Amino acid sequence: MRAEGIMPIIGNKFDPLTGLYNRETFYTEAKLLLGARHNTKYCIVCMDISCFKIINDLFHADTGNVILKTAADYFKAKLNPRTSISCRADADHFVLCVPAEELDMEEIIKDLDERIQALHISHNILFFAGIYPVDNINLPIDQMCDRAGMALRRIKGSYLTRYAYYDSKMRDQMIEELLITGNLEIALMEHQFTIFLQPIFDPHRNTVVSAEALVRWFHPVHGMVSPGKFIPVCERNGFIVRLDRFVWEETCRLQRKRLDAGKPVVPISVNLSRLNFYSLDLPEFLANLLEKYKLDPWMLKLEVTESAYTDNQLQLLDMISTFKGLGFSVLMDDFGSGYSSLNMLKDMPLDTLKVDMAFIRELEKSKRVAVILKFIVALATELGMSVVVEGVETQAQADYVASLGDVSIQGYFFSRPLPIPDYEKLLDKYLA
Ligand code: C2E
Ligand code: CA
Ligand code: CA
Repeated sequence: MRAEGIMPIIGNKFDPLTGLYNRETFYTEAKLLLGARHNTKYCIVCMDISCFKIINDLFHADTGNVILKTAADYFKAKLNPRTSISCRADADHFVLCVPAEELDMEEIIKDLDERIQALHISHNILFFAGIYPVDNINLPIDQMCDRAGMALRRIKGSYLTRYAYYDSKMRDQMIEELLITGNLEIALMEHQFTIFLQPIFDPHRNTVVSAEALVRWFHPVHGMVSPGKFIPVCERNGFIVRLDRFVWEETCRLQRKRLDAGKPVVPISVNLSRLNFYSLDLPEFLANLLEKYKLDPWMLKLEVTESAYTDNQLQLLDMISTFKGLGFSVLMDDFGSGYSSLNMLKDMPLDTLKVDMAFIRELEKSKRVAVILKFIVALATELGMSVVVEGVETQAQADYVASLGDVSIQGYFFSRPLPIPDYEKLLDKYLA
């Protein structure tokens, strides 16, 4: 981050760009403040901006500076100087020290959103906050900031949750996360990752119509690590881009192996994590994979999770159109789990909706859910899209879903995700 607009007059206690305290001054002043007002409950708030590095890369550094100054001006105007202090610690990191009862996080996020939107920068810029409610004023301020930072990292990139409070469980999670992070590189090198395939069924024709590739991690000491544990870590530290590419390649390799053996294949869909959309060479990478393994594009389908749609819609729309141009089918994963599902449908040229598992979970408990599911299937069909319902575990659920029309089913009722040899046996059985 380039710091411009040096203001020598305020000396080195302050951040030259924004005029807020710098990190060192903040540490000193926060310690004094907490000591002087020890009867008041305080919070340390760490804030940063989604994808700030990307903003700096995409636009001129001036744009980044304008954003930082806008935020700093807001903090100066908003915080009570008698009770609160703020600083720009570095890059896009701001830290506040505010009495708990004066802290309205909803309002701060809303105000910042409004001010940033008024700058008319085409990228979606969001502030995230982690909050440590100070329960031990003897803790060094930098450790308080670390705790607020832990809470922040928990939610970074989630888009639905914009701030979170630190609790002591986070320390354990953090340690686990560090262990996972430290092992990823080796795991990829040592082939500890592999793919499982979960078949997707057409209940009317009683046959397999496609499958989804799902990554699995077999750690030599810890055994199988659940994707629920390591995928979020990989999404936070960026490793997911490499892991996804590994999964796509393994999927292509499997398809090629079957074709070479003269066996039938069905399309396999792979997951494209949100972060992939920042790699502008993504379509080229996928096209090269098809070429390398001599596959037709219908053999590899692309699943984009619904939360990716809320990120940067224009860029995503562009990318999806490029995929379509290359001949790929694009699926919207976890449809209905976010808040803007229906809105997305009108713009995105999607081939398939994968209805989120939450609908099936609620089916037997709620008549309304059954109605909504029916409506989604009708809507998708009318829009020329096919539908996959995920998470079907029982005969009753499968029967209901099948009664809705031309719908495919993915779920434990038909098959769990299978290791490659079992998947191949199943395909051979159904498609012989
Ligand atoms: P997802 O993409 O929604 O994948 C479906 C998940 O639902 C899989 O969990 C699958 O095992 C599980 N599932 C399928 N049928 C049923 C059922 O009937 N009942 C229940 N309870 N669960 C069912 P898995 O393999 O644990 O993956 C979890 C999530 O991790 C995936 O959700 C996906 O978001 C992510 N993931 C897995 N593999 C990859 C990958 O290669 N790349 C990326 N980016 N994400 C992946
Ligand atoms: Ca998926
Ligand atoms: Ca899904």
